[in-house]
Amino acid sequence: MMFDLVLRGGDIADGTGAPLRAADVGITAGVITLLERGARVESPEVADVAGAVVAPGFIDVHTHSDAVTLLGEAADDLAHAAVLQGVTVEICGNCGFSMFPALPEHRAAMERETRGQYGGSVGISADFEEFAAAQRAVPRANHLAALAGHGTLRSAVLGHADRAATPGELATMCGLLDADLRAGAAGLSTGLIYTPGTYAGTDEVVALATVAARHGKPYVTHLRDEMSRVEEALAEAVEIARRSGAALHVSHHKTAGKYGWGRTERTVPRLAELRAQGMDVTCDVYPYTAGSTSLAAMLPPWANAGGVDALLARLADTGLRDDLRRAIDEGVPGWENTVGNGGWDRISIACAARHPQIEGRTIAEVASARGLDPVDLVAELLLAEGGEVTIISHSMREDDVRRVLTSPFTMIGSDGVPKPGHPHPRWAGTFPRVLGHYARDLGLLPVETAVHKMTGMAAARFGLAGRGVLRDGAHADLVVFDPDRIADRATFTEPLLPPDGVEMVIVAGQIVVTSGKVTRARPGRVLRT
Ligand SMILES: [Zn+2]
Repeated sequence: MMFDLVLRGGDIADGTGAPLRAADVGITAGVITLLERGARVESPEVADVAGAVVAPGFIDVHTHSDAVTLLGEAADDLAHAAVLQGVTVEICGNCGFSMFPALPEHRAAMERETRGQYGGSVGISADFEEFAAAQRAVPRANHLAALAGHGTLRSAVLGHADRAATPGELATMCGLLDADLRAGAAGLSTGLIYTPGTYAGTDEVVALATVAARHGKPYVTHLRDEMSRVEEALAEAVEIARRSGAALHVSHHKTAGKYGWGRTERTVPRLAELRAQGMDVTCDVYPYTAGSTSLAAMLPPWANAGGVDALLARLADTGLRDDLRRAIDEGVPGWENTVGNGGWDRISIACAARHPQIEGRTIAEVASARGLDPVDLVAELLLAEGGEVTIISHSMREDDVRRVLTSPFTMIGSDGVPKPGHPHPRWAGTFPRVLGHYARDLGLLPVETAVHKMTGMAAARFGLAGRGVLRDGAHADLVVFDPDRIADRATFTEPLLPPDGVEMVIVAGQIVVTSGKVTRARPGRVLRT
């Protein structure tokens, strides 16, 4: 037998959750053949991987990396952080935000909003085909799959309007979604805490999820509330899945904020119960007790109505500041109020391009140092940054993270937001952190189970045929790691430090990472499901 590359001497974690077993792996023309240990083969390249685990490449089921390769060479370190952890497929388009579709009348306004989201000006594509073409124009190391975002669909059809869609508008949204799913988008995502997603009622999402169900693709949701009303928000997601017939995937499942802590004691058993009743429901998690999102999302929905320019106009009106303070102190029905559930001392600034000196510090600290009320500081900062500020919210409890992580229906998603500045370290550390800290050091999961959550389980959920498992004929997307050394190194102060112990990453049969460095190979493609 003749192969392009042979990995000799490793232990296989095949992605199904089966125990490790000794086997060699032959790769030819981007396809895998499993070989008996020590089988006689011919190959110009034989890598000795004795002592290492050979696994399917990791599938990051939840990223906001839609635009990162389009930001130019200055963003290469950001773009490479995923593959350096062993991620061979990124699934973007999450939380209701995708880079497609657009209709001509709202396209310019939509592109204006992308600056804050992606850390640079990037075009919104008319449809999935145009998106795939724009991505193809920039060579990449790993593969990209994309969900169609409900917020983007909504912006395409009715702009940033704070109202229900008319039946005609909803039909247009469904038609656009249908075309994108047919072309290869991996499912429908919502972000029901974010504008414009939050303006939609349940019926609107049911109509769209029905389109996803017709394509056999999942409804993927950032719940309407992950804090004090997380159980009601989960009930809404279940209703949407039941009425539409779509499989349900709960994004970055958490119960955050002081009123949400400990609620995974109820939500995780609830998910298990739904599965026992026959519902196809899964979730993902990132292994940190802090989240990350935009600073504007700390303000009530009315403040964000109409998009970023309207927000800035309101923030410039100092007469509205007391209304903002009151909304945060007292809450607004139907709005997940992160600061009211925690406090400004739990919110630190991740990315503020014109104020790098305050990156890493909390809003409470900076406000007190300047003798300002936090809401006034937030308003001034957003005005000075044109609305583009990313924050990190230290809002979760460790026992909740562990309960979700160890549930048998939970896969791994970084929720990485690769923007310049001090992004959340999850973008560079998630997968090694699960394998090293949680699986090996704390003993919460056997290594083959942790690998399954990162590979086979994810591929099955998102329809990535021939990926996520090591078997004859599968795509040769692989990661080789040292089970004794693998560990995340990225921190909140040094968020892009690459991990230890990831020895080799292979995409489509080509070595894209070796000895902790990205090679020149760029075999990544846009995947269609
Ligand atoms: Zn989200």
